[in-house]
Amino acid sequence: MVEDLIVIGSGPAGLTAGIYAGRAQLSPLLITGSALGGQMALTNEIENYPGFPEAISGQELTQLMQKQAERFGTRVEMDEVTGVDFSVHPFKVKTYAQEYEAKAVIIATGASPHKLGVPGEEEFAGRGVSYCATCDGFFYQNRTVIVVGGGDAAVEEAMFLTKYASKVYLVHRRDRLRAEKVTQERAFKNEKIEWVWDSVVTEILGPENKNEGVAQAHIKNVKTGEESFLKADGVFIYIGNVPNTQFLGEQVELNERGYIVTDRKCRTSVPGVFAAGDVQEWVLQQIATAVGSGAMAAMEADKFIAELEGTAYPERTT
Ligand code: NAP
Repeated sequence: MVEDLIVIGSGPAGLTAGIYAGRAQLSPLLITGSALGGQMALTNEIENYPGFPEAISGQELTQLMQKQAERFGTRVEMDEVTGVDFSVHPFKVKTYAQEYEAKAVIIATGASPHKLGVPGEEEFAGRGVSYCATCDGFFYQNRTVIVVGGGDAAVEEAMFLTKYASKVYLVHRRDRLRAEKVTQERAFKNEKIEWVWDSVVTEILGPENKNEGVAQAHIKNVKTGEESFLKADGVFIYIGNVPNTQFLGEQVELNERGYIVTDRKCRTSVPGVFAAGDVQEWVLQQIATAVGSGAMAAMEADKFIAELEGTAYPERTT
């Protein structure tokens, strides 16, 4: 059986593509990836997605979007794509469980947290080193944690962590934050956050008995060269993202950072293959923009299939 459309990824771009493609009666198959909702589901509080003036949790927004996509006939499959073949048509999409064929594909695999790449990071992953305050913050009641980064994610999640932790060090490599001004202002008022400017974490260390988890981090001031140790029970890393495009090999054009090159209609270098959300190059990495591109990609996929089957309406001229 050849699917009309396969959507790869279940963040806001993928789920929105599911809603629009479902309403276009394509009965899309949406393959979730390792975690339903992607980074959206890991966000504690979403304050800037329109329609939720009092904020909404990422988990809840994910569930609502999934429900809406399923209502219009999207089939949500909990599986992960391991490879694709876009050199043939119908396209081939391989997952852990099976191999599918599809007339059109939307790639909405988003991006994953960037690693610091310092000693101790891998060793203590899941035992003190985390990339998700929503998931792990609870374990740090009345303890001290370090947050690394200076963007929206680092500052917002540092504030979230103050709900549990007695102290949060925010270590940033410059003396100015990249985060939105409104977020910065709120964070500067939070007395539980101590700012460690112009500094980088060079190593994450445990106590003598390493099985006990994180005990401190080695810090270096990049301006003065001064080195010090910060005692902390956890290190949360928020230093940006890397695109999830490894499974694509060289089948669509990627930029030098691995993001998918698309035109403004979400079309990739392969006709019939579209990309939406954070996996696209040069997009504002926001839920609102991911949603917009998911809708665009679904409409373009619908048009591609209609053209393929000779059922397309003529292009609008006005
Ligand atoms: P980001 O905006 O790219 O910020 C990454 C931060 O990490 C920067 O401050 C950067 O420092 C620092 N950094 C990068 N590499 C580093 C390294 N090797 N060592 C130490 N520090 C390093 O990433 P993000 O905060 O994860 O956000 C990703 C995207 O999602 C952004 O577009 C962001 O606006 C969006 N987002 C939005 C919201 C929201 O709107 N509420 C929430 C979360 C995320 P420099 O500043 O010196 O470059």
